[in-house]
Amino acid sequence: MPAQKSNILIVGGGTTGLMAATLLSQAWPERHIVLVEKSKTLGGLLRSFDYGANGRFDCGAHNFQETLIEELDHLFLSLLPPEQWHVMSGREREIAGHYYQGKLQANTPFVDLRGLPESLYKTCLQDFFWNLNQQSQNRLVQNPESAYDFCLQHFGPVITETVIQPILFKLFGKDIQSLHKLPLLFLHLNRIAFLDEAIVTDLTQSQLLRSRIAFSDQRDLPLERSAGKRNFYPKSLGMQQLIDAFEARLRQRNVTILTEAVVGDIQETDGKISSVTLKQAGQALQEMFVEQVIWTAGIHPLTLTLGLQDADDSFDKPLQTAFVHLQLDQKLQANDLFYIYPFDPQFLTYRVVNYANFCPQTLQGPTYPVTLELFLPPDQAWEKETLPQRGIAELRGMGLISEETNVLFATAEITTEGFPMPTLKNIELTQTRRERIKAKALKNLTLLGILAEDELLFHKDVNVHAFQQLKLLIAKSLPAVLQESTPCLPVQLHP
Ligand SMILES: Cc1cc2nc3c(=O)[nH]c(=O)nc-3n(C[C@H](O)[C@H](O)[C@H](O)COP(=O)(O)OP(=O)(O)OC[C@H]3O[C@@H](n4cnc5c(N)ncnc54)[C@H](O)[C@@H]3O)c2cc1C
Repeated sequence: MPAQKSNILIVGGGTTGLMAATLLSQAWPERHIVLVEKSKTLGGLLRSFDYGANGRFDCGAHNFQETLIEELDHLFLSLLPPEQWHVMSGREREIAGHYYQGKLQANTPFVDLRGLPESLYKTCLQDFFWNLNQQSQNRLVQNPESAYDFCLQHFGPVITETVIQPILFKLFGKDIQSLHKLPLLFLHLNRIAFLDEAIVTDLTQSQLLRSRIAFSDQRDLPLERSAGKRNFYPKSLGMQQLIDAFEARLRQRNVTILTEAVVGDIQETDGKISSVTLKQAGQALQEMFVEQVIWTAGIHPLTLTLGLQDADDSFDKPLQTAFVHLQLDQKLQANDLFYIYPFDPQFLTYRVVNYANFCPQTLQGPTYPVTLELFLPPDQAWEKETLPQRGIAELRGMGLISEETNVLFATAEITTEGFPMPTLKNIELTQTRRERIKAKALKNLTLLGILAEDELLFHKDVNVHAFQQLKLLIAKSLPAVLQESTPCLPVQLHP
């Protein structure tokens, strides 16, 4: 690595870092680009696990959702030849169900109250509409941050406390009042299903109701209500293929890729990062002069690297995420569902990924891969060896596999890079740390990736934000006359 020549440093080798390296190596072929990744492998949450003859599995549910920004979509879709993509569109874009009150509900991923005992169901309905009336009179909190206020405003106290609170407690072991609203979006808890199709079609003409009520059966969703965008998944299993293609492209362009590497020290001069010292496998490498730093590895590692943490910055303990990967000799008993969200309290699994329904290679067997994503309560020590049995028992408990189904392969992985504990305290601390980083106003630092802005979590949103920021950075390096003609659009979250 040249010591004196200016370098472009990209920190984090997930898809945001790989996209940054691709765009910048294309725009600035004369500059030396260095990508550093803490783990042994690239890909972040989009990498796959390869167990040789036992198959390949993803880190749970991931695919590529088009953004309708032509250059950005092309950047991802050109990673594989067109015939290797499986395209999902319209109503079949992503079919998900849930398990609630002892039953598989294949009609919608949003919690369906029609499985509740009749008297509770009636109370929920009554309270929902009474609350809606209050809401329309502007008596409730506007733009709530907390999961509790969000649910209170959307559904009323009865549904909040008897339906949503127990589900959130089983997932995070926390009271709803201490949680941020972010996981509601992620886990399909921001709407509820409770009415039959004819009446939902009629009622959801109202915007107020549409943001609260889920369509009774996603397969009958009017096309104008489906997002209109397509999802793409490799025909032969594994998002890793995208990561491998990114890596090959970057190596061809002479991008230096350092794995098991982190930024040790940062030196600043005149409001800029002038140089950094990288550490690889614990050994300090030579000092590297930098022209630009693109940080995609999260707010917290950057806060620590810049020495911006406070003595009282204490986080609520993070969740551990685990993956149980299984090969079965029969398809899951889950109709056409891609994903299933178990909401009943006895399950640690928060999502079941049924590859056979969205990956054509696995549709015909002879083995059927399945991944369970689990949140492990932080107050207990978990052994990864015991998790496959737990996962199999949970599938049996939901009736997704029968006694006759044979498990041909089972393994588990525990990751510390899973979902952050989404408490109000943690999200506020993340915001505070991000503000501290921004207040430092380092002229050559660009912050991208998960939570680089408020509520930036979903892959598509993260991609759009990163793409727009990178285009802006590239435009700034152009002569003034060209800068004027380069548009930069605002990010739209969850359209
Ligand atoms: C449990 C979970 C489930 C999710 N499910 C969905 C979903 O269903 N749909 C969806 O749209 N989105 C989902 N997401 C979000 C999606 O995974 C992210 O939007 C996407 O991974 C963002 O890519 P990234 O490159 O910014 O971050 P990441 O994929 O997290 O990559 C960051 C990289 O930085 C590396 N790194 C960390 N610290 C350092 C350091 N100090 N130095 C160097 N490298 C470092 C990490 O090892 C990693 O490779 C999920 C996220 C989580 C946590």
